[in-house]
Amino acid sequence: MKDLSKLREDFPVLSRKRGDKPLIYFDNAATSLKPRQVIEAVKSYYENYSVNVHRGVYSLAQEATDLYEEARAEIARLIGCKPSELIFVKNATEGINLAAYGIKWRRGDEIISSIMEHHSNMIPWQIVSRRFGLKLSYAGITSSGIIDLEDLEGKLSRNTRLVAVCHVSNVLGTMNDVKSIARIAHDHGALLLVDAAQSVPHMPVNVRDLECDLLVFSGHKLLGPTGIGCLYIREGVEEELDPPFGGGEMISHVELDGYRLNEMPWRLEPGTPNIAGAIGLAAAIRYLRAIGLDVIREHEKRLTACALEILEELDGVEIYGPRDPEERCGIVSFNLRGVSGDLVAALLDEFGNIAVRSGFHCAQPLHRALGIKSSVRASFYLYNTMDELEVFRETLSRICRELEVRAER
Ligand code: PMP
Repeated sequence: MKDLSKLREDFPVLSRKRGDKPLIYFDNAATSLKPRQVIEAVKSYYENYSVNVHRGVYSLAQEATDLYEEARAEIARLIGCKPSELIFVKNATEGINLAAYGIKWRRGDEIISSIMEHHSNMIPWQIVSRRFGLKLSYAGITSSGIIDLEDLEGKLSRNTRLVAVCHVSNVLGTMNDVKSIARIAHDHGALLLVDAAQSVPHMPVNVRDLECDLLVFSGHKLLGPTGIGCLYIREGVEEELDPPFGGGEMISHVELDGYRLNEMPWRLEPGTPNIAGAIGLAAAIRYLRAIGLDVIREHEKRLTACALEILEELDGVEIYGPRDPEERCGIVSFNLRGVSGDLVAALLDEFGNIAVRSGFHCAQPLHRALGIKSSVRASFYLYNTMDELEVFRETLSRICRELEVRAER
């Protein structure tokens, strides 16, 4: 077993304390902390070669362009695609919107999403459905908290143009069987878009294995800077999209009354891109690959198993999603019976300097399906430790004692 505790020194935020209590950061599903290597890469761009890319012929411009395109290649390697299939966007949300506004919809086209999606993978489909007269429906979930494949298949028709689902739920931590969903979608001639915001940072993900057509993720959840994310578009699928935004760089030839589109991937990247963001994200990916995403997955599985054990031992705790850590990623959502999630999160902060999220985590329909308004979510990453979970156990026990939480009310 690889000891990951040494790498904590790479993350400056982890040295923060409140009083004598070190920060325990369990809000990794919202965003991750950044290691020095990423901060340095971003700083180095601004200090040493902060010029535009793809424009100048002078050597500094060439250097910046090379670093920017090398970053793309590094990121493409991570998910097993070609650099030409990888578009830089602002975040997962923008990637989904780019697909939603880019696809050349035909009246009567159908989109199928699921009730377990983050709002980012719901609202864009609602907007374009209204605008272009499309039919939108949602697949339900099974009692194990994954998309019900039978229900999904029953909703598909010859008119289904796109299936858009998450790989990993940002509430339940469960993993959908994306490969089977791809087969079902393709059997009906539909495209599959995968929201991989919660999977790419935490496990090996390969777009060829998943057989998806489009895939999105955000850099900030995988140790990278904010403001950079990626949209993978399988080669050939770009023909189904019209660039929703126009401007410089995305064209190869312009007349007063027309233009010719540039090649992929630049045709979908108008204007000056987030150069420092791309370079910082590549540094983050080098950092993760040096550890190994399989190692990170195993580490998070151990933390999740321990978190589930802690929650199960306490009276009056409701846990959402399956109990088997094999069936979920490092995300555990729960409630203390009769206590608001916000209060639990505030007390975890006050008593233990533990950062967790409370609310509906941008997944209101899923919470409604679970019969709750909100939940408390603890989510882990490579720098979290068993010792931190011990503090979580003690702090949560104290909260249960002080609030007199009981098994039944
Ligand atoms: N999808 C999922 C599953 C997520 O967890 C998130 C972030 N919470 C998003 C999409 C949106 O990510 P971003 O805000 O970085 O665009």
